Amino acid sequence: AVVTRFAPSPTGFLHIGGARTALFNWLFARHTGGKYLLRIEDTDRVRSTDAAIDAIFDGLSWLGLGGDEEPVFQFARSDRHADVAHQLLAAGHAYRCYLTPEELAARRELAQAERRPFRIDSEWRDADPATWPEGQSYVIRIKAPREGETVIDDLVQGQITVSNREIDDFVILRSDGTPTYMLAVVVDDHDMGVTHVIRGDDHINNAFRQLVVIRAMHTIEQAAGTGAWPDPIYAHIPLIHGADGAKLSKRHGALGVDAYRDELGLLPEAVFNYLLRLGWGHGDAEIISREEAVEWFDITHVNKGAARFDLKKLLNLNGHYLRLADDARLTAEVAKRLDLADAADLALLEKAMPVLKVRAADLNELADGARFLFARRPLEPDAKATAILTDDARAVLAKITARLEPATEWTAEVLEHSLKDLAGELGLGLGKLAQPLRAALTGQTTSPGIFDVLVLLGRDEALARIRDQFA
Ligand code: GLU
Repeated sequence: AVVTRFAPSPTGFLHIGGARTALFNWLFARHTGGKYLLRIEDTDRVRSTDAAIDAIFDGLSWLGLGGDEEPVFQFARSDRHADVAHQLLAAGHAYRCYLTPEELAARRELAQAERRPFRIDSEWRDADPATWPEGQSYVIRIKAPREGETVIDDLVQGQITVSNREIDDFVILRSDGTPTYMLAVVVDDHDMGVTHVIRGDDHINNAFRQLVVIRAMHTIEQAAGTGAWPDPIYAHIPLIHGADGAKLSKRHGALGVDAYRDELGLLPEAVFNYLLRLGWGHGDAEIISREEAVEWFDITHVNKGAARFDLKKLLNLNGHYLRLADDARLTAEVAKRLDLADAADLALLEKAMPVLKVRAADLNELADGARFLFARRPLEPDAKATAILTDDARAVLAKITARLEPATEWTAEVLEHSLKDLAGELGLGLGKLAQPLRAALTGQTTSPGIFDVLVLLGRDEALARIRDQFA
């Protein structure tokens, strides 16, 4: 059965590229009826932080991409990684290398001076273990094959071939006994039963090195009859670029997922849909539900080329999902943003939601659009609204008040009827009444339909706000 994993390093927030990697792992697992696991790659003890770990879990759960099992923390497994290094050493697939950092640096410099590529050709590679000096500092290096080539049939990139000459005898255990990242990934993927490694294409080169460890361990296990270390199936997905083609940076909207939620006020289903469509498609379907995504997802159809991030498209999608979203849920989101807790306020907000949500593209805009409902009298109209409230307009407001005050019913139909009558009598277009009315009722020049606003505010509040502007 399929097992995928998302393996972020908690050295920063969960960015949009990471979220998309998680999404593709999740989708592939769901589509195939497999499992999707999380691993926190926290071996960089200096740069890994608890805050980043929290932000990653938080962002994933917001997007509905939490793991199917308890997450694995890589650093906690260091002993196991070191064990594997020693197994490789004992079986002759790795060796103690006593080259000092100074010696290596000198060789690197020489190669540079002679304009040839540097390769670690350690004389310790074939040294007899009997000659290993005791008490001297060493690292453990994997013995990478020197002949032939390694081929990866990548589900996204297709067949990639690398000459084994290009693969170094890289370090698997440092001189202080700590495992390297390259080793840890391989051991963890094996122990977690990972069958498919889906990750950013910046890891392609790592795949070739990781396969060296995998194949050496496979040989050991097969010889001992203790198990297998099959090659995982790789899918290296392209990175996300900005609309201008450059690698995605903060300038392009490369924010943490938390910023998409809080600062941009996006809905998780919109981000989900957007990330899905970024480099993958199903015909020309733009709006794709979670269920459809699971049914249709095919990793081999992910584009090879870099995906271009387009914030405008994301905001459009968000507007779509906002209009579909349940009013009670949107009410809770807006209440959070406007600090509303009073039951009557919440009821009013929910009642207003159908006319508010069609006018907003994100939750912050939605909250801004709702603010007038809870404004304190007397309102302070903004600059544009103030410009509308001329003496003539105030005179119109007085007439409107006189007309609406006796209304027996305060419904949109009745109000519309009497204001149209009044406009006709005054020889004015309805807009000439609606504009100052909107300015008085909301303090702004844009709002939901004026009759909806009158009804939502209720008779007393509405009349009082109008009167505030001319009395
Ligand atoms: N921790 C690595 C990263 O954040 C991912 C390694 C992997 O997926 O194999 O880029």
